[in-house]
Amino acid sequence: MLKKKVQQLAKKNSNQLISFRRHLHQHPELSFQEYKTCQFVKEKLESWGIETQIMATTGVIGLIKGKNPNSRTLALRADMDALPIQEINTVAYKSQNDGVMHACGHDVHTTCLLGAAQILQELKEAWEGTIKLIFQPGEEQLPGGASILIKEGVLHNPSPSTILGQHVEPLLEVGKIGVKSGLFMASADEINVTVRGKGGHGARPHQCVDTILMASQLIVQLQQLVSRNADPLMPTVLTFGKIYSEGGATNIIPDEVKILGTLRTFDETWRLEAHRQLIKSAELICQSMNGTCDFKIIKGYPYLKNNEALTAFTRQHMETYLGAENVIDFPSRMGGEDFAFYSQQIPACFYRLGVQNPNGSGLHTPNFDVDERSLEVGAGLMAWLAMQA
Ligand SMILES: [Zn+2]
Ligand SMILES: [Zn+2]
Repeated sequence: MLKKKVQQLAKKNSNQLISFRRHLHQHPELSFQEYKTCQFVKEKLESWGIETQIMATTGVIGLIKGKNPNSRTLALRADMDALPIQEINTVAYKSQNDGVMHACGHDVHTTCLLGAAQILQELKEAWEGTIKLIFQPGEEQLPGGASILIKEGVLHNPSPSTILGQHVEPLLEVGKIGVKSGLFMASADEINVTVRGKGGHGARPHQCVDTILMASQLIVQLQQLVSRNADPLMPTVLTFGKIYSEGGATNIIPDEVKILGTLRTFDETWRLEAHRQLIKSAELICQSMNGTCDFKIIKGYPYLKNNEALTAFTRQHMETYLGAENVIDFPSRMGGEDFAFYSQQIPACFYRLGVQNPNGSGLHTPNFDVDERSLEVGAGLMAWLAMQA
C-alpha cells in the first residue's frame, strides 16, 4: 500500500532529515543571502537525480516527473531564510553565525521539502504528473522571495495548477496539522510617519507648532479607522509600535516626531481604501494644528487565502495519512506570509505543522527550537499529499 511505503521511507530517512536540519540550523543565512543553503539544497537534489534550476539568485527549483508527466503539475514550496536574532539555545547544533538564527523554522521547511523530494523521486513510478519543488529565498523581508520568483516565471514552464506549503507551528504537538480553509493570513503593510512642526522652548508653546501633541492626536484619531470605517466583519488591525524624536527633552518641543506602525487586513479593496483614508486623516489632523506630515505606507504581502476546494481535498488526504483526530481546525492569523503571493495566482493551501518543543518557545524568539520528530511527519505528509492527483 502506497501510504505505508511513504511512511516507511519517511521513517527510514528520519536520521538523515535530522542531520540536514541541524546542518541548516548551524549555518543560517539572512533573506536573499541564502548562497550556502541554496548550494546545499541543489547538491542534495542532484545527488538523487532530480534536475534543478537556480532562480532569484538564491532560489532552487527542482522538477520530479512521475508517470504521464504532462497530466498535471503541482508545486511544493519551502522558504529557506533565517532571521537577525542571536540564538541563546545551548544545543550542539546552535547557530554558528553570530546574530543570525533559524527562529522561524525555515530550516525545518527546507528539510521537509528535501525529504519529500527524496520520497517522490524514489516512488516516481507510483504517482502521476510533475512535481515542481520551490526552495524560495527571502520570505522574511520585503518584497518577498515569492514575488520575485513569480516575476521570474516560477509559475510557468511547466505551470503548476495548484501549490502547497507548510509552516512550523509551536502551538501544535508533533503529529498534528493545523488547517484553515479560506482567509488564513492577513495582508501586512508598514507605516512610516514623520510629523513636522516647529520646535522650541517647552515654556513657550504658543511660539511652537507642537509635534508631540500632533503625533498624539494622530495616533488616537487614526484608531477610528478600525472602529468606524472598517467593516466590523472584516478583521483590521492598526498598530503603532514605535514613536520617537531625535530632539526633545522635558522642556524642549522637537521639530519632528516619527511614528512607525503596521496595517493588517483581509481584503484588497479595503486595504487600498484604508491607505487612502489614513493618509487623508493624518494630513488633515496635522494641517488643523499648523503642522505637516509625511505619511508613507510601504506595501507588504497580500492576504493569504486557502482555496476551499483544494483545502478540502488536501485535508481529506491529511486525515488518511495522519488520522482524522490529528488534523485540527486552525484559526486565521493576522500575521503576514509571502506564500500569499502564490495564493493570489493559483489555488493554494498553506497548513501548519506541529513542532511543539518542551521549552515552550515561540516563533521569532532567541530560544526557538522544534521537536525534530516533526521532520519525519512534515516530509512524509508533503510527499503523500503531492502524489494525490
Ligand atoms: Zn517568520
Ligand atoms: Zn516563517
